[in-house]
Amino acid sequence: MATRKPMVAGNWKMNGSLELVNQLSVAVNNIKSADLDVVVFPPYPLLSSLIEQGVTTGAQTVSENEPGAFTGEVDAQLIKDLGAKYTLVGHSERRSIYGESNNTVANKFARAQQVGLTPILCVGESEQQREKEQTELVVAAQIDAVIDKLGLAALKDSVIAYEPVWAIGTGKTASPEQAQSVHKFIRDKIATLSSDLAQGLTILYGGSVNEKNSELLFAQPDIDGGLIGGASLKADSFTAICNSAKRTV
Ligand code: PEP
Repeated sequence: MATRKPMVAGNWKMNGSLELVNQLSVAVNNIKSADLDVVVFPPYPLLSSLIEQGVTTGAQTVSENEPGAFTGEVDAQLIKDLGAKYTLVGHSERRSIYGESNNTVANKFARAQQVGLTPILCVGESEQQREKEQTELVVAAQIDAVIDKLGLAALKDSVIAYEPVWAIGTGKTASPEQAQSVHKFIRDKIATLSSDLAQGLTILYGGSVNEKNSELLFAQPDIDGGLIGGASLKADSFTAICNSAKRTV
């Protein structure tokens, strides 16, 4: 575990402004260190401004298609050409609000890698699925959709974010033990196919992470950092969360 570099990613969702870019760039540039990756996922129009300030960025989603007649969509190559390094794929809000299926998510994952963006594959169960004890089934199917389409090797240049849907934006965080148990399940599942790949794979936790709960979550052996929504919009909170990843992961 100690060989994996911790990562903290901030998902701004449909929030942010040029003013926030200025505040957060100062904070992120202060946090920067060789032993932590910090990535910001702003709305598309703010990508260039963050990149100009030296912040590592990613898109919140990309089109699964190559350029063409897809009004309103954004091509992954364009995101790459701007200088972004990552893209989220399969965030639960994309799955639930915009109806993205496991198959669509796998196509987006493929398109991201085709242009040289690193996909962060978001997986996680709903509250109802957890109550029915289907967490592992759901998470496995979300990961298998990518492996089945692209092969296991595709996971090598990717990150997985475990984000229980019931914990996103709700203030209900998974306990460190609950989160660790699913992270271990994911790593063990991949280890049955390739132990090296599983040991090298960065797996982030997301879901109401804040500066009070991040340290214990990140101290878990299979949690390599976090995907942060609400708390990534406040420079002080985001800085504290990043610092706790440096100390504990
Ligand atoms: C997210 O948007 O991925 C997320 C985890 O949000 P929040 O931290 O606000 O729960």
